[in-house]
Amino acid sequence: MAKRSKSAQGALRAKPQSKRGWIDPFRGDEIRRLVKEFGSPLLIVDCQRVREQYRKLHKALPGVDLHYALKPLPHPAVVETIAELGGWLDLATTGEVQLIERSGMDPARCIHTHPIKRDIDIRNALAAGVRVFVADNPDEVRKFVPYRDELEILLRVSFRSPGAVCDLSRKFGCDPEDAIELARLARQLGIEVRGVSFHVGSQAADAAKHVEAIDACKSIIAAARREKLGRFDTLDIGGGFPISYGRRVADIARFCAPIRAALAKLPARIRVIAEPGRYIAGPAAIGVASVMGRARREGHWWYYLDDGLYGSYSGQLFDHARYPVEALRQGKEKLPSVLAGPTCDSIDVIAENLLLPELKAGDLVVGRAMGAYTWASASEFNFFPKATVVSVNRSPGDRGTVMAVD
Ligand SMILES: *Cc1c(COP(=O)(O)O)cnc(C)c1O
Repeated sequence: MAKRSKSAQGALRAKPQSKRGWIDPFRGDEIRRLVKEFGSPLLIVDCQRVREQYRKLHKALPGVDLHYALKPLPHPAVVETIAELGGWLDLATTGEVQLIERSGMDPARCIHTHPIKRDIDIRNALAAGVRVFVADNPDEVRKFVPYRDELEILLRVSFRSPGAVCDLSRKFGCDPEDAIELARLARQLGIEVRGVSFHVGSQAADAAKHVEAIDACKSIIAAARREKLGRFDTLDIGGGFPISYGRRVADIARFCAPIRAALAKLPARIRVIAEPGRYIAGPAAIGVASVMGRARREGHWWYYLDDGLYGSYSGQLFDHARYPVEALRQGKEKLPSVLAGPTCDSIDVIAENLLLPELKAGDLVVGRAMGAYTWASASEFNFFPKATVVSVNRSPGDRGTVMAVD
């Protein structure tokens, strides 16, 4: 932990103040200004970093339409930024449909990817103008019969990856061997199948699973077209693109190289799309919490913050992430310390044995790479409110905006 905290601090200081009205809201002075203005705890979302992440992935996967998956950070500032970049969206619930409706995003640029839906979820998405849905079993395919003239579907196929931090192919997706049978059923019922999708799991260690899945989907698409089971002109390669949580991960261009090679073998008429979530949102936000109070216990300082495991740090439980955390206060002498969340629950501890200068009530603690699966899964346990989300750099000169989220 100590080492990571040091590199995090380096990164915080390294980024110079940007030009032309863009600011770097991850700098210490800007963080202090934002807390003064908007209070604590905060989740600071930098739309410039959203743009940067989108552009890097776009460059790493040329010709692939990127549908930002709302789930990791369902916030209008991110949706707006993706729209401005000419991007696409991946939504999965009625709440997410409502968010894009409020944002004024073109529903034709959205796909609905939840494999299991209630009828009302389908109707809500259709009413908003969404036209592409996902199914992974016969019951779900049959749910589309009343709406077959209004929509098209992708069949989600499962490729297990027990190695991924979050293996999303256990809960969803049909066996590759069952995909053709499912396509036959859709054909019989008069439902147009546009193609296949998969999600290998989040924060993938390497691209091997993506490559295996692309190759298998290529065969499924070819077999379905031989049988004339639908248009089958779309391949959705899902998300899973990894980010750094302090430890190095492969640069995205290098991570995607084998994926590019696998995609190059597909027939040219196939449109490829992806559903990145973490990669777009993760590095684009930091969490800022304040020390509420402190105590010396068994020879160590315990600092109690106004955000914790039931708040933005919930990702440490649900997403198995460890965010690089550091204090804004500088100090030569650093002592092994404990950072705890605000609730009265004993598991609400963010980090132990973290080297920190001596802190006082009111001091700020910053967690990096906290855009994805953090605030999104936070609760208000013990009535501690979730962090306020402040977006910065929505346009040049935007030094901080709090947008309505519901
Ligand atoms: C969660 C999810 C994503 C985003 O995955 P990341 O690993 O964050 O990129 C994309 N598609 C679907 C269907 C998801 O459930």
